[in-house]
Amino acid sequence: MQMVYLDNAATTKTDEKVIKAIIKSYEENYGNPSSTHRLGQKAKGMIEKTRDIIASGINCKSNEIIFTSGGTEGNNLVLKGFAFMNQEKGKHIITTKVEHPTVLETCKYLEKKGFEVTYLDVNRDGVISVEDLENKIRKDTILVSIMYANNETGVKMPIEEIGELLEKKSIFFHTDAVQGIGHEKIDVQKLKIKALTCSGHKIYGVKGTGFIYLNKNYSIEKEIWGGSQEINKRGGTENLEGIVGLGVAFQEVCKNIEKNNMVEKNLLNYLEDKIQKEIKNVEINGKDTDRIGTISNITLKGCDIQTMLIALDMRGICVSGGSACMSGAQKESHVLKAMGRNELELKSSLRISVGKYNTKEDIDYFVENLKKIVEIERS
Ligand code: PLP
Repeated sequence: MQMVYLDNAATTKTDEKVIKAIIKSYEENYGNPSSTHRLGQKAKGMIEKTRDIIASGINCKSNEIIFTSGGTEGNNLVLKGFAFMNQEKGKHIITTKVEHPTVLETCKYLEKKGFEVTYLDVNRDGVISVEDLENKIRKDTILVSIMYANNETGVKMPIEEIGELLEKKSIFFHTDAVQGIGHEKIDVQKLKIKALTCSGHKIYGVKGTGFIYLNKNYSIEKEIWGGSQEINKRGGTENLEGIVGLGVAFQEVCKNIEKNNMVEKNLLNYLEDKIQKEIKNVEINGKDTDRIGTISNITLKGCDIQTMLIALDMRGICVSGGSACMSGAQKESHVLKAMGRNELELKSSLRISVGKYNTKEDIDYFVENLKKIVEIERS
């Protein structure tokens, strides 16, 4: 059976260059990076090389990069770490209603610990208003966390304007850039971002890898106690092989990033045009706003998405309804809900996400099958 993978926002296929680098590292660089002998120092050198690669890719200093186990840990580390470290200055946090659960759940935890959190509304396209953000800032606001691009819709937030405003107000700005890194050039200096989260398995690296950027002028409490690894912010022997793979993955996505972004965007446009031409009563959520070039979220009126996902899977097509973690729990999308979609619309929305291994033929196969399934669903 033909297999078409269009769920790249959930995870990506590991790049062969990453696999080769990881195997090489297992075979040749198995020292503990904390050991003082040559094998240990060689391993440490590999980690520092990756730190340099990532730092130059997002325009920060190498000692501002902390390796983590991925986006979930990254968001936890920044939000809890910053909130606990700075609680004397204030206990108010601002985020949005459409963040990934790793941010929303962490904020709920912080609420239980005595912090107050404001969740910003979004408009029908899924974007916050910077004016609304400004109005919600209080004297005790210490932290604002707003995602770079949404994982269910691909809708981008006005990061540059937000960075500008928060710099003026001297408020710490974190962005969950898990769906942005690797698809767009992100310059943390230019965007005035003070902390950022990235996940390795969304950029053709392996699962359980990632990093945060933390501006050197800010401090966070560490989550994992023990050794002084990762600039004394995350104890534990490093995931050396994963970090080496992350460096290769990051380097690969950063090569010709503008060109790759254009290729992805063209493929997504091709997909959306074809769907709109061939299937009636389809709404592309967030269509008229700025989006990353990899995610399309469509509402297929009169269709039940759980049935559709099974039917698509039986034809070898992998997509999801909302985010991957949502579909497992079969929860309705808090993102589309915040965008004002009604109950029926929430049950009939599909996320398609393209990546560097997809082709036009994949899209043709997907739309051809989607059309047939929609016809059966609506008959
Ligand atoms: N943040 C966003 C926007 C995501 O899309 C995801 C994963 O889907 C995460 C955080 C969590 O990343 P990880 O799977 O690396 O823990």
